Amino acid sequence: MPVEQLPESFESGTMMHIGADNWYVVRAVPSLRAEASGLGRLDLYLEKVVQIAPQEISYSQVDITETFDDHLRLSPDEWVETVPLNSMVDRPELQGLPSKTATPEEVHRIALKLSAMRESLPVETDGVYCPLCHIANTNLGRLKTPCPRCGRELLKFGLT
Ligand SMILES: [Zn+2]
Repeated sequence: MPVEQLPESFESGTMMHIGADNWYVVRAVPSLRAEASGLGRLDLYLEKVVQIAPQEISYSQVDITETFDDHLRLSPDEWVETVPLNSMVDRPELQGLPSKTATPEEVHRIALKLSAMRESLPVETDGVYCPLCHIANTNLGRLKTPCPRCGRELLKFGLT
């Protein structure tokens, strides 16, 4: 690739379009075009950007968090707000999610079923959530203990 086609700097997170795909720069040595051109060499570590439409995901929980790395950021006593997935999808019931008009009982029943599925997957970063109070916690030890707000049983939750 000609030097002049490269971005000015390659800070991590820079998006590049190569061929038909988009790539995120994970690491670049050096990180500036000027330096790379001086050295005549550039090492790029890239991650391919894969976009998945929400409708194509088969869900194993009814909520998600809007923040990233919650499992790294939060202490076991902290709770983070979650967002119901059925508010983001057109026909949530086709994706195995509660419909937009589901009662709390229906939401919990569906969430319980999905949680049982998720419980069969050992995911190290999983925590727990309440699909009705829309709060999550990183401590999987709380699984099936009462929600601090509504007292319903806490379910398995994937924090991202
Ligand atoms: Zn609750």
